[in-house]
Amino acid sequence: MAPSQPASSASPSSSLTPRRPSVTVLTGAGVSTDSGIPDFRGPAGVWTRNPAAEKLSDIDHYLADPDVRKRSWLARRANPAWRAEPNAGHLALVELEHRGALRALVTQNIDRLHQKAGSSPELVLELHGNMVESVCITCGARGMTKDALDRVDAGEEDPPCLACGGILKTATVMFGQALDPDVLQAAAEAAQACTTFVAVGTSLQVHPAAGLCEVAVRNGAELIVVNAEATPYDDLAARVIREPIGTALPALVDELAR
Ligand code: NAD
Repeated sequence: MAPSQPASSASPSSSLTPRRPSVTVLTGAGVSTDSGIPDFRGPAGVWTRNPAAEKLSDIDHYLADPDVRKRSWLARRANPAWRAEPNAGHLALVELEHRGALRALVTQNIDRLHQKAGSSPELVLELHGNMVESVCITCGARGMTKDALDRVDAGEEDPPCLACGGILKTATVMFGQALDPDVLQAAAEAAQACTTFVAVGTSLQVHPAAGLCEVAVRNGAELIVVNAEATPYDDLAARVIREPIGTALPALVDELAR
């Protein structure tokens, strides 16, 4: 259960960040399944059906093995996110912002659907990067993934960086890679400063993203988990809503922004 002290209780950050009624939301792949993008660990998840696919998200395998990079680019090209449209869950979070209750929208998703739905880019913190941009491992040059995929279509199975010849990858955070420290810091501050922290559509198995639930509760926020399956943080939550996100999230937003 969440601690019983009031949300305005003193916390290490409370002198720096004035506490107002506010909601920080952490989203995961489950928010996008209604848009036709499979999650990883749900019943129809990519890794549930094919555990070997997890290798494509590991930086050591990616760097060491050109065949992993080749398969990774093909998987990116086939990702339904390129054609996906936002769903009722994404739109509910836009509504939460419009009603002035959203402190920050921290997402583990790489599909950019929150921004496509209309969430303000400055409120969206992409903890695990995004698949729309690409980056060179060696020189850091950034480009667009669509351009790299055009080169794949033209016959380059593992297109190198055009600036330095280094290994190119999407601007996503793979297992074994550090998160952007500025984005992580902003997410931690948003978890500390909110009065309600909603974790939605995430199995809460990936850290440090999952640990934000604990940061929020430790600083006096109420934790609400919205997910079809049990998560390791359910015991810490004041409420667990085990219903489809497409209906549960709009109803919850109505309640929180009242
Ligand atoms: P996850 O696959 O581990 O967990 C998703 C959870 O959402 C599951 O527990 C599932 O039961 C639940 N869920 C799915 N659809 C639901 C629905 N309609 N209603 C209620 N619950 C639903 O996802 P995660 O925790 O985000 O971790 C996966 C990692 O993979 C993340 O780091 C993310 O970057 C990446 N990923 C991103 C996308 C995307 O951008 N859309 C897709 C797949 C994976």
